[in-house]
Amino acid sequence: MASSSYDYDLFVIGAGSGGVRAARMAAMTGARVAVAEEYRVGGTCVIRGCVPKKLMVYASDFARQFETARGYGWTVDKPVFDWPTFLAAKDREIARLSGIYTTNLEKAGVDIFRAKAAFVDAHTLELVGQDRTIKADKILIATGGRPVMPAIEGIEHAISSDQAFHLETLPERIVVVGGGYIAIEFAGIFHGLGVDTTLVYRGSNLLRGFDEDVRAHLAEELAARGLKVTLACQHTRIERGPNGLVSHLLDNLKVESDQVMFATGREPYVEGLNLDAVGVRLNDKGAVAVDDYSKTSVENIWAVGDVTDRINLTPVAIREGAAFAETEFMGRPPSSTMPTWRPPSSPSRRSARWG
Ligand SMILES: Cc1cc2nc3c(=O)[nH]c(=O)nc-3n(C[C@H](O)[C@H](O)[C@H](O)COP(=O)(O)OP(=O)(O)OC[C@H]3O[C@@H](n4cnc5c(N)ncnc54)[C@H](O)[C@@H]3O)c2cc1C
Repeated sequence: MASSSYDYDLFVIGAGSGGVRAARMAAMTGARVAVAEEYRVGGTCVIRGCVPKKLMVYASDFARQFETARGYGWTVDKPVFDWPTFLAAKDREIARLSGIYTTNLEKAGVDIFRAKAAFVDAHTLELVGQDRTIKADKILIATGGRPVMPAIEGIEHAISSDQAFHLETLPERIVVVGGGYIAIEFAGIFHGLGVDTTLVYRGSNLLRGFDEDVRAHLAEELAARGLKVTLACQHTRIERGPNGLVSHLLDNLKVESDQVMFATGREPYVEGLNLDAVGVRLNDKGAVAVDDYSKTSVENIWAVGDVTDRINLTPVAIREGAAFAETEFMGRPPSSTMPTWRPPSSPSRRSARWG
């Protein structure tokens, strides 16, 4: 354990997927651990990412299920969806999950500071607005990412996914911009909820980096479901007109809507951490540069999750957080604990495939 000149053996900045996992695992070894969270415990995935998005997917999918049910003999009166009721239920569930994350941290013995943390030096952190500094032996940066909005005229009229989870009213028409999984899922959600939805993407094919066969058919499938898909096109500006927002696109195309949502990218969230002061190096994409063990350019500082911009998904952030804790607090470097992927070989699958 660290010398008593430190308040903590480990201080984690950010209580999201990676930070929570690392903090809990380290604390369970008996280490003195604290975490700072400037917004809500749970991070992007729980508060404004995977989880609320999945709840919206479930909500939107009912429209199709009601239709399908008729074909199976059910009589379904005209189903009515109420956005405020859904939002309230969604927010209750998010609060419940955030509470579970908090309780689990507390049960493991982790101290939680509800504040933004910033570096003073390599072993000292300031809790911004609380007039308090804390000294820690090891520090883990797990501050995640945040949406980036393009610098086009009228962008102030548009929203990102962060705001899409809290819209006061469900728009009648929406333009969703982007070709990644977040844009496509939101376009599907709004369309499923009965919103007249247009998906605009500058590339000629959706879901860059995904399976080519899926990519080839996705746009057609979306269009077949009634979603308007405009590929190889992008916004030049947005203005507020008498009938709503007007998206001006290349080739003089125009789309009118009540909301424009950009899901065109996210950036590592390092603002305000004061990384320069301690010499934590960023890479050319503005992410915290780390080695294979998630160590930064400073000996006692590590970083995991989206802030390192490796593979920006929750299971990856969790695994990186776990690998850090295993290496630094359990004496088990990840090469000895990483599960090796093997092709599925359960008897049922085998018999299904080979008869
Ligand atoms: C709309 C959307 C949908 C997504 N859907 C999926 C999905 O279906 N599947 C999937 O695997 N991934 C999904 N993701 C990605 C996933 O949410 C992230 O990869 C994951 O949350 C990254 O975890 P993290 O620990 O790196 O950071 P985060 O979970 O973002 O946590 C970082 C935390 O640090 C806090 N913080 C930041 N700076 C400070 C500071 N200075 N002091 C104190 N606290 C600070 C933040 O408030 C935040 O709570 C989605 C993301 C979005 C935006």
